[in-house]
Amino acid sequence: MPHDVILRGGHVTDPVNTRDGVFDIAIDGGRIAAVGHSLGPAREEVDASGLHILPGIIDTHVHLSSWLGGAAGHRMLARAGVTTALDMAGPVASVMDLAARHGTGLTLACIDYVRPGHTVDTANPLTDELRDHLARARAEGAIGLKVLGGHFPLTAEATARVIALCADEGAHVAFHAGTLDTPQDMRGLRQAVDLAAGHPLHLPHVNAYVRGTQDHILTETREACDLLEAHPNIWSESYLAPFNGNSAKCANGIPESVATQRNLVKGGFDPTAKGMEAAILAGWAHVHMLRDGENHLAVGEAALEAFRAAETDIGCSFHVNPPEARINLAVMKRANGRFAIDALATDGGGIPRNDLCDRGLALVALNALTLADFVVKTSVEPARMMGLPTKGHLGVGADADITLIDLARRRAVSSFGGGQPILRDGVVVGQGATILCPPEAEAALQAKGLSTIPTPPFQFRPLQPTF
Ligand SMILES: [Zn+2]
Repeated sequence: MPHDVILRGGHVTDPVNTRDGVFDIAIDGGRIAAVGHSLGPAREEVDASGLHILPGIIDTHVHLSSWLGGAAGHRMLARAGVTTALDMAGPVASVMDLAARHGTGLTLACIDYVRPGHTVDTANPLTDELRDHLARARAEGAIGLKVLGGHFPLTAEATARVIALCADEGAHVAFHAGTLDTPQDMRGLRQAVDLAAGHPLHLPHVNAYVRGTQDHILTETREACDLLEAHPNIWSESYLAPFNGNSAKCANGIPESVATQRNLVKGGFDPTAKGMEAAILAGWAHVHMLRDGENHLAVGEAALEAFRAAETDIGCSFHVNPPEARINLAVMKRANGRFAIDALATDGGGIPRNDLCDRGLALVALNALTLADFVVKTSVEPARMMGLPTKGHLGVGADADITLIDLARRRAVSSFGGGQPILRDGVVVGQGATILCPPEAEAALQAKGLSTIPTPPFQFRPLQPTF
């Protein structure tokens, strides 16, 4: 019997299976069927000579809701070589609707935000209200909850309740550090570690807390790594882009997000809609403008027009991430040899910074990471973090999630998700989406046209290996 597909003669880098050399890879029924030499025959041959074949890139921090440019995000992620992604905020209903309409063949999971006035009544929800929200979010397809401390903070006590509830219920929980009494900086990071109280926690974009506001930035970087090393209940990721990503949406003339307000002040602008307009014209606030089906950063008159046309409901980014933190956090290791920050993510998706290949492989070009290190940070550890043993490697029987890259150009060329092409020679060809969802959400998501993989409680709950 011929194989479904053979990728012929690419350089395979698969650290889990200690493979690093030129091989053929055969795919059957969506899984890796064989890795070897002179495999064949196959119904479809892909010439991978000159390319590197990596386990499919998993981005553990993206945004794919209408709130953050999600309609375009699917195409942006596919072009960036991503095959699996975790939406880090929801709202889950919007993420699922957009995935059904704009999907490009990715496997996705979503956690839903705990947001005062939106999903909970106040900034101090009690456990019963949180439990109701989690049940609702799960029914709609989310595998857990996100506390958006830096944008829409809760009280410290309520934040701790969310984390404890998710531990109890086996739900994934992520916390953008920051509470009503503590800002999103090193103080927020220290508090986050305390509030987790030993429970599993996904700590997103560590670089966003390390901006040198409390101490020398390298001292902060070191402290962040030491804190995470001392708390193996916490999985973490950081990103490499100099730009952050916020919502510019204003209510009553004021940006809704406290992070957006803070970044306006940082650039010398009023934390108001008027201040936002001035910042866009001055080139400090970059608006996420849609062009050719993808979001791009834009400033000046055209960007101001887009901000007004969207009635302020548009993404924006500020150049606030210093290189000392984002580069060191990407490469530093612990005493046991694991990376200080488990995963390299992007906080991208609809936010225009899907740069794992572009900026991540620049670290490989600098010999700051090996290519195997890059795979560990963009596929192996993310798969562990998401409880997905059939992803993150290319052993026989693994999901045929594969990213083919042009290492010299730092670009994804082609990719497969479950053996189906997502990206072919730089062109997005994938469709639909496969959702890692609670079993109770499967029927509703399938009715929308989405594929589903049942993901019961506790599977997706991050627990660090103890080695
Ligand atoms: Zn984010």
